[in-house]
Amino acid sequence: MTAQFSEAPRPLEPSTCGLCGAQVPAGAERCPECRMTAGFGPGEPRPFSRIAAWGLGAVLLVVYLVTLGVVALAR
Ligand SMILES: [Zn+2]
Repeated sequence: MTAQFSEAPRPLEPSTCGLCGAQVPAGAERCPECRMTAGFGPGEPRPFSRIAAWGLGAVLLVVYLVTLGVVALAR
């Protein structure tokens, strides 16, 4: 019979806050100093940056095309 390893939700180790550099206790969800969410920092990938970037790019493209169309029709 083989034992299956299940992944822990998050590592139970003390970490350093990415914003203020304070020690975040093990298992804490937020920094005790600045209340910043643990895992947010320069070295961590932002969870929705890719989707947000693509969404923002699409919105800007639509606005650009609409403006282009309005300018072309106004002439
Ligand atoms: Zn902090």
